[in-house]
Amino acid sequence: MDQQIFGKIQKLEAVERRVQAHAQIISSGEQKNIANVELVAYIEAIERLALVSITDRKGRILHVNNIFCRVSGYSFSELLGQDHRILNSGTHPKAFFVHMWREIAYGRIWHQEICNRTKLGELYWVDSTIVPIKNGNDHIDRFLSVRVDITARKEREAYLEKRLKARDHLFEIRREILRAQNIESLIATILSRTVLAMQFPQAAVSTIYLDGKRYSSDVTDQVLPSGPSALQNEICVKRKVRGWIQVAYREPRPFLLPEERDLVQSVAEDFGAWLDRQETEAYVRYQADHDGLTQLPNRRYLKRKLKKLIEARRRVMAERRQEESRFAIMFIDLDHFKAINDTLGHEMGDLLLKEVAARLLACMRHEDIVVRQGGDEFIVLIQRVQTLVDVEIIAQKLVEQMMQPFCIENKMLRVGASVGIAMFPEDGQDVKMLLRCGDLAMYQAKHAGRNGYRFFSRELDKLMAERHRTEVALRRALDNSELVLHFQPIVDDINAGIASMEVLLRWQHPEDGLVPPARFIPLAEETGLIVPIGAWVIRTACLQIKTWQQQGLIVPRLTINLSVRQLGMKDFAGDVMAILQETGVAANLITLEVTESMLVENVSELAAVLCSLSALGCRVAIDDFGTGYSCMSSLKHYPIDFLKIDQHFVRDICTDENDAAIVTAIIAMAHGLGMEVVAEGVESIEQLDFLRKKHCRFYQGYLFCKPLPAAEIIHLLQKQTLFLN
Ligand code: C2E
Ligand code: MG
Ligand code: MG
Repeated sequence: MDQQIFGKIQKLEAVERRVQAHAQIISSGEQKNIANVELVAYIEAIERLALVSITDRKGRILHVNNIFCRVSGYSFSELLGQDHRILNSGTHPKAFFVHMWREIAYGRIWHQEICNRTKLGELYWVDSTIVPIKNGNDHIDRFLSVRVDITARKEREAYLEKRLKARDHLFEIRREILRAQNIESLIATILSRTVLAMQFPQAAVSTIYLDGKRYSSDVTDQVLPSGPSALQNEICVKRKVRGWIQVAYREPRPFLLPEERDLVQSVAEDFGAWLDRQETEAYVRYQADHDGLTQLPNRRYLKRKLKKLIEARRRVMAERRQEESRFAIMFIDLDHFKAINDTLGHEMGDLLLKEVAARLLACMRHEDIVVRQGGDEFIVLIQRVQTLVDVEIIAQKLVEQMMQPFCIENKMLRVGASVGIAMFPEDGQDVKMLLRCGDLAMYQAKHAGRNGYRFFSRELDKLMAERHRTEVALRRALDNSELVLHFQPIVDDINAGIASMEVLLRWQHPEDGLVPPARFIPLAEETGLIVPIGAWVIRTACLQIKTWQQQGLIVPRLTINLSVRQLGMKDFAGDVMAILQETGVAANLITLEVTESMLVENVSELAAVLCSLSALGCRVAIDDFGTGYSCMSSLKHYPIDFLKIDQHFVRDICTDENDAAIVTAIIAMAHGLGMEVVAEGVESIEQLDFLRKKHCRFYQGYLFCKPLPAAEIIHLLQKQTLFLN
């Protein structure tokens, strides 16, 4: 189709050029007084190609050729004697013809494109050349006009113009699509641009239906009929129809131009692709900001949210509306979650976390944000806080909710939670500080005995900083040989000699002097440092035995304290055996002490480790007995040789009837189970007498000897000291 039109245009253009050349010849021939005969010959030549007319000076038609008649729709006789204005289409302004007449009246050739009207009222375009022709007196008495029909070319131009217009709008829509951030503004652009791109923009209405919503370019929002008179395309996102775009005319008009149809289709496709991209991006953003298990927002999301909130609240503060600026974050750490995960498996653990998330969401207000920080830790952001009491009420509610049992796969699970609270602006004015304070407060709540909440406090912060310094120093202590062992005899009442010696750790701090274990062992346990430290204690104690043996001394058994962390190591019994072999110390020279509280926590695993140690030949002692609330009868599951009564009971044994009764019962029970009893912290003869009456055989305490470094304890060994008489 296009090719054909272009072919025709090219032909016509060639004709135009030839006509103009002839016109020049005619005009110059006139000037050279060329005979009429020759002029007629020229005219005949042109006549075969173009619309030709000859008028007199006043514009009355004297002659028209056949092509003229055919194109204009008038017969020769209808035109003869008529004014040229009969063909006027009203397209050109008056000035256009004024100019024409002036030019030709002065004898100049006039050349323009004119739009004429046929007898039937249709418009047609001609490229006109009007040549004034002079008579023998050198007066202009006729005008020869030669016209070439250029209607097809004009239509083509209009077509191109139209197409360019549609392209322009599509281009604009695409540009908007590239930079669009919000759907409302993009839809507005699409609606207005698609309307403007139509042939009759004043009558066009563009409508988008998307996800059940309707958007229209028409302010009156009138629903126009769809159907054949409307252009309509579906909007598909990920191969699903999500809506459609429609362009219709308010009045019955057809859509004739194919590019209008193409435009609507392209826009529908581009818009669908944009929605697709937006959704993909939103999905990726969601994934990055949410926890996969609980679908709660994650820490990354919280940080961003906090940053924005802090900025907003700072502005509120600047307006001196202090109370309105407040908000709270609560760090929630589940208690005993690890035990559930370890004993019932990770799948149950995951189900439990999901339930916890659901319960947290259910007990918070809509505007509050519940975040999973990771593991069994959650954070709640409470955006509207008036008083601290409000926050306390929420925290209390949280703790209570978490204490309620969770029913998962027909199992009732109990967790509980510790909650730490940080307030803006009091505790921190930036994200990092606030999160840190919340975390520290939670840590404090946990240490205060779980199932409770704590507000952040500066003192607590100082304590934490101190703790951190100690941790760093303790790590160095091991490498710098700052740890030392002291030894305290355990006396055997039957032979009055040293039955064994307890190995007690000390830290020779470069500035603080000798630090007792109570000040650093809990920290070492928390940080896991106890594992390398504990191994060092066992090895150093064995090396000490070896040294003393090499000095020819009779060395009693050494009693070494163990931490729960050590016993939890993969092959702890194997590690002990390796040390014994490496140092060449017999296993029966070692007693290993575990505290009663350890027995309560890990029943089956601990029993297996203790059995292995016992099988090696080591003795096992239960330390601090009476404080761990263990069920006495459960002791028979363990290979226990000694039971050490905690010094707190021994201290008041002579004054407190309860303590006396407890100690009496413990000794009887231990003997019943075939264990020996060691009384710890014996400081007075009265205590000793009481214990003797109860048939306790072993004693440890300041009454006999304080813990001493190796260099001092050696004297006792050398003298084979007898303590009792
Ligand atoms: P423990 O195992 O119960 O050790 C006995 C504690 O009682 C020692 O305190 C000892 O000095 C103290 N003691 C002994 N006789 C008396 C007395 O007559 N009166 C009083 N008031 N106290 C007495 P120490 O050395 O401060 O050790 C404290 C705790 O640190 C130990 O309690 C033990 O649980 C832990 N510990 C010490 N060394 C180690 C070690 O190498 N590893 C581990 N995991 N824990 C250790
Ligand atoms: Mg001990
Ligand atoms: Mg003890």
